This record gives sequence, C-alpha cells and structure tokens, in this order.
Amino acid sequence: MEEIKSLIRTIPDFPKKGIMFRDITTLLADGKGFRKTIEYLTERYSDREIDKIVGIESRGFILGGALADRLGIGFVPIRKKGKLPYKTLAAEYELEYGKDIIEIHADSILEGEKVLLIDDLIATGGTMLASIELIEKLKGKVEECAFVIELPELKGREKLEQKGVNVYSMISFEGE
Ligand code: AMP
Repeated sequence: MEEIKSLIRTIPDFPKKGIMFRDITTLLADGKGFRKTIEYLTERYSDREIDKIVGIESRGFILGGALADRLGIGFVPIRKKGKLPYKTLAAEYELEYGKDIIEIHADSILEGEKVLLIDDLIATGGTMLASIELIEKLKGKVEECAFVIELPELKGREKLEQKGVNVYSMISFEGE
C-alpha cells in the first residue's frame, strides 16, 4: 500500500488556497501502480457477488471501468447534471459554496441489484451520500463504497456509516 501511496502526488493550494489536492494522475500513469491498485480491489470484491460497479465522474470512471472489466460485470456512470442522454434521476448535494447535482440513468440499476460505488477520494462524503441516494431510489443495494484515498479529518466515513453503508479505502492522508 505504501508503494501505491508514494505514487500519489500532492498539490498544495489547488484548486484554491488551503486545499491539499491529492492527484492520482501520477498513480494512473504508472503501469505497475495502476495494475496493483486494480488488483487489490479485484481481490477484495471478486467473491462478493456484485452485479454492477457504479463510478462517479470523473476519476471514478477510470478506476470503476478497469475494475468492472476485471470482475466481468457491468459499469454504470454517475455524472454531473446535463451529461446523460436518456431518462435520469437526480440528487443534489452541498458544496462549500452552493450546490451541485449528479444524475444516473433511470434504467441502469435493476431492483435488488448489488452495487459497488467507487470514487478516487472521500473528503466530506457529500458526493458519495448523494450517489447512495440515487442507487437507493432505483432500489439497488449498496454493498460498499470504495475509495483509493480517504481524508479522515473530514469525517466522510462517519456520514456514510451512519447510513448503514460499508466504507473501504486503500490509503489515508492526514495533513501530510
Ligand atoms: P466530498 O464530496 O467532499 O467527499 O468530495 C469528494 C469528491 O471531490 C471526489 O470526487 C474527489 O475527487 C474530489 N476531492 C475532494 N477533495 C479532494 C482533494 N483534497 N484532492 C483531490 N480530490 C478531492
């Protein structure tokens, strides 16, 4: 895990002052590192009878797409408002300033399907909470939410666990 962590680059003050941006493009650009990341996740989820991987725009697409291929199951995108062409369900969530909306195709998850949600990073957990809401509206079952990176200081995990959802992260960054 330390090897994977060492491939993640930190950019201070991006996109604004005070934010330590954890940049996974350096991990993705390293063939061995990317493969190892996907192998860890494949090992964790291969016996869990998951029906669909749902990835969150945009870095969740890269991780989720690769993992879905390894597991031999379908991939479903959650996108920012206005990008998906068919009938959608929407959920709103709070940003530091204002709100944002994410959407999923209304026919992408069947009732009772077991879903693994994936994104690169959990900070406040707001994006993932809204994503869980969408899966639950479609009557899917959230098996787990997976992240490469967790920022424990922002307590996103607690928010999801209070909802009764399992959370898995590979790496934590605490003010480093
Ligand atoms: P949140 O909804 O607060 O958990 O934020 C998670 C989303 O914002 C994820 O899609 C992340 O890619 C992105 N994000 C938030 N904080 C950071 C950070 N410090 N570095 C990189 N991405 C971040």
